[in-house]
Amino acid sequence: MTDWQDVLEQYPDDDDNGSASTGIGLIQQRIYCPYCGERLDVLLDPQELGLQYIEDCQVCCRPMTMLISEAANGELEVSVWTSDEVG
Ligand SMILES: [Zn+2]
Repeated sequence: MTDWQDVLEQYPDDDDNGSASTGIGLIQQRIYCPYCGERLDVLLDPQELGLQYIEDCQVCCRPMTMLISEAANGELEVSVWTSDEVG
């Protein structure tokens, strides 16, 4: 009595278009809030490389500006700074 049939149903082997966009591939990164200094875990989407966006700190709820870039080792890294630095 195994549940291997369920596994096959969830991941059918008829993937003709070669698409693998199933939502996986998110990379967890650790950042520090520029306001309160709390350590936060954020999920980065590799497809958002080069994007800059604003996300509220989960602790102090102030808006952090975040920029996703590629590090020298090819991994994603995220830069965080306070939103009021930008005029
Ligand atoms: Zn904060």
